[in-house]
Amino acid sequence: MNMTKIAILGAGTGGAMTANILRRKLDSDVDITVVDKSTNHLYQPSFYLIPFGYLEAEEQSRDVSELFGEGVEFVQDEVTGVDPDEKVVDLADGELEYDYLVVATGHRLDPTAIPGLLEGWQETDSVYPFYHYDAAMEMADALEEFDGGRFVVTQPDTPIKCPGAPLKMAMLADDYLRRQGIREESEVIMTRNAEHHFGVQPYRDKLYQIWDERDIQFEANFSVEEIDPDEQVVHAADGRELEYDFLAPVTPQFGQKAITENSPLTEGSDDGEYVTIDQHTLQHTEYDDVFALGDCENAPHSKTAAAARKEAHVVANNLESHLQGLPMNDEYDGYAACPLLTEKGKAMVAEFDYDEPISAPVESKMNWIMDVNVLPSVYWNLWLRGYDPLP
Ligand SMILES: Cc1cc2nc3c(=O)[nH]c(=O)nc-3n(C[C@H](O)[C@H](O)[C@H](O)COP(=O)(O)OP(=O)(O)OC[C@H]3O[C@@H](n4cnc5c(N)ncnc54)[C@H](O)[C@@H]3O)c2cc1C
Repeated sequence: MNMTKIAILGAGTGGAMTANILRRKLDSDVDITVVDKSTNHLYQPSFYLIPFGYLEAEEQSRDVSELFGEGVEFVQDEVTGVDPDEKVVDLADGELEYDYLVVATGHRLDPTAIPGLLEGWQETDSVYPFYHYDAAMEMADALEEFDGGRFVVTQPDTPIKCPGAPLKMAMLADDYLRRQGIREESEVIMTRNAEHHFGVQPYRDKLYQIWDERDIQFEANFSVEEIDPDEQVVHAADGRELEYDFLAPVTPQFGQKAITENSPLTEGSDDGEYVTIDQHTLQHTEYDDVFALGDCENAPHSKTAAAARKEAHVVANNLESHLQGLPMNDEYDGYAACPLLTEKGKAMVAEFDYDEPISAPVESKMNWIMDVNVLPSVYWNLWLRGYDPLP
């Protein structure tokens, strides 16, 4: 019997969810293979909670083999390129033929893209790029030693996943310093190379109000050019300088080189960094048998696990229709959600789609409990396994 082959690149949020949803939908004559270079799946939304001790680092990772049941084959290998004309994925150790392809390779973090960032992280005790799991863990120890001063959060000029994460870092740091009794002798400052600190209303105005009340400063239109870890200064492209005692920089983010340099799948997207797809069907604009979701593609949604979760259902439904020769009827509406943790025990959920905001800009204890105490186990036990009571 000739098996139909689906290859899924990436066993992160989007890839793992899609594989498990597809497995449940499709007959056993469809072969599903997931490739990832890592055998470790991390719960990334924990990375701004680990530094403050609100989640335990050891509980935020699972072996990828635990994520998939029978009927999903996992291959640990590095994808090095894709030839969508020949329908072949190049791997570091061989190749993989496919009939249908799902790309979910996420963002590539490059700490060398800002001079001084990597050196500061590796060689000093004051730079913690918390988008890396290791740095988030190291930051927990460093914060215990921190006795006050200027706490700075910077953002790169590239698009970033979870654009709310730097704001959460600033607000949780402010709250932490208060709890430690050292806020009086400290400053908390966040930079962004944009006019505003958060893109979506009405959450932005509510955040400005909170930041004013708590004296959290925002440095607008600040393009980070270089970090001088010896002098503890961040240099901006326009000549501004920002001294720091403790720096939490967000690492610059790009597409994976295997896709951007060794495949035609990103041709035509901004800077050639993103897989070009239809923003509703999530099908590639040139190659009918290719779909993409999550951080790696160019649909104009906020790059979050919440978005990938919704997209996984759309990809699975449309891929099923497509392989049966039926019209693709499912549409992704741009849904994304960002729980904005404003202080320990309080959060506001920014929830929106391509067109409009969905939730009210209200802080509550329930939002914190949902995000910190409930969602991690929903993520591991339901969503990642392809179960979703509210798809
Ligand atoms: C600090 C931080 C906080 C966040 N907070 C939130 C939040 O509160 N809420 C929220 O919804 N989202 C949050 N996110 C974002 C969320 O984690 C991502 O948007 C989500 O994981 C994207 O899923 P993905 O499948 O596209 O990519 P990922 O989950 O990153 O998975 C990509 C996978 O592809 C693999 N891969 C990449 N290149 C190759 C290659 N060449 N060969 C083989 N394998 C490869 C990687 O190893 C990885 O396993 C946060 C992220 C960070 C870093």
